[in-house]
Amino acid sequence: MAVHSCLIVGAGLAGLVAARELQARGVQVTVLESNHEIGGRMATRHIDNAVFDVGAQYFTARDERFVRLVKQWIDAGVVIEWAQGFNTAKDGEVVQAGLGEARYRGVHGMSDIPSYLAQGLDVRLEQTVTRVDLRDNGWHVETQGGVHFSADALLLTPPIPQALALLDTGSYRLPEALRRELEAIGAGYAPCIAVLAILDAPSKIPEPGSLWLSGDPVAWIADNQQKGISPDACAITLHAGIDFSRRRYNDPPDTVARKMIDACSEWLGASVRSYHVHHWRYSIPETVYSQPCVYIPGKYPLVLAGEAYFGPRVEGASVSGLAAAERLLEE
Ligand SMILES: Cc1cc2nc3c(=O)[nH]c(=O)nc-3n(C[C@H](O)[C@H](O)[C@H](O)COP(=O)(O)OP(=O)(O)OC[C@H]3O[C@@H](n4cnc5c(N)ncnc54)[C@H](O)[C@@H]3O)c2cc1C
Repeated sequence: MAVHSCLIVGAGLAGLVAARELQARGVQVTVLESNHEIGGRMATRHIDNAVFDVGAQYFTARDERFVRLVKQWIDAGVVIEWAQGFNTAKDGEVVQAGLGEARYRGVHGMSDIPSYLAQGLDVRLEQTVTRVDLRDNGWHVETQGGVHFSADALLLTPPIPQALALLDTGSYRLPEALRRELEAIGAGYAPCIAVLAILDAPSKIPEPGSLWLSGDPVAWIADNQQKGISPDACAITLHAGIDFSRRRYNDPPDTVARKMIDACSEWLGASVRSYHVHHWRYSIPETVYSQPCVYIPGKYPLVLAGEAYFGPRVEGASVSGLAAAERLLEE
C-alpha cells in the first residue's frame, strides 16, 4: 500500500530532510517538534547582541548523497565554507592540523540549515509527543496538550532513548532483538556541557576562530565573531569533553562554567562579561546502528532515523533522513 501521509516526530535535520523528500513526492507530512524552535542540535542562540552556535559547530560532506544536498544549500545561499581544518592547542601551543577538507557552516549560524529546510513544511512547534500507537487504521499520536494526529506512517527522529520511551507509550512493540540492539546504542550517548561566554574584547583564539583542546575540561572552543556569525559581540562557545561532561553533568552550572572558562583563560584573553550554560543530555552516540535507518514494513510502516543510524554528525543525520524517506517511498 502506498504511504499517503506521514507523521514525523522531531524537527532536527533527520526529520526535516525526510519531510522535504516525502512532501516533494506527494506524501502529506506533518512534523511535530517539542521545542519552541526548529533544528534540534543545530541550534544558534542570540543573547543580547551576541550570536552563538550552541550545538553542532560545522560539518564535513563525504557521502555522495550528502555532497549533493550541501551543494543545494550552498547554491541557496544558506551554507558557506568556514575553513579547511582546525588547529589543536597543546600545552599552550597551537599545533597545525591537517588541512584540505572543507568545513561548512550556516551563513548566519548552524540553524540557517533547518530554517531553510523547514520552508513550506507543516511543522508544529511546542508539540511534545507523549503517546504513539498503532491501531487498525494507522498510526495515532498524541501531544502533551492533548492534540491528536494520525497518518499511514510514523517516523521517529529523537535520540534513541527518547524514541524507545515513546514507543513504550502505546501497544506497539519492536522486535525484541532490535529493541535490545537499540537500547545498547542508546545507553552509550555522551552528554555535553556547553558554555556561551560574551567577552568585553576580541579573543586570542587564532584563525580561523576555533581550537581543539585536551577535553578535560574543554574539548572545543570557538569564537563566533571570527567565525562570522556574531558581528557585534565577541561570543565564545566552549564545549566540555565527554568524560568531564559525564562527571559534572549534575554539578551546579556556575561551578562548572567557571572551571571551563578558567581553563581557557589564555585563549580568551579578555574578561568574560556574562555567560550561560547549556546542557545537552544527548550529544552524540558512541556507537551507531548498522543501517542508515530502521524500517519496519507493514500496512502502516514505522521508521526510526537520526544521527544514531548513520554517523553521529550533521552528515549522518541528513543521510539517515534521506534513507528514511527513500524506504517509505519504495512502498
Ligand atoms: C554539543 C554538540 C556539538 C556537536 N558538534 C557537531 C559538529 O561540530 N559537527 C557535526 O557534524 N555534528 C555535530 N554534532 C552532532 C549533530 O548536531 C547531530 O548529529 C545532528 O544535529 C542530529 O540531528 P537529528 O535530526 O538526528 O537529531 P536532533 O537534532 O536531536 O533532532 C531531534 C528532534 O526531536 C525533538 N524531539 C525529541 N523528543 C520529542 C518529542 N517527544 N516530541 C516532539 N519532538 C521531540 C527534539 O526536540 C529535536 O528537535 C554536535 C552535537 C552536539 C550536541
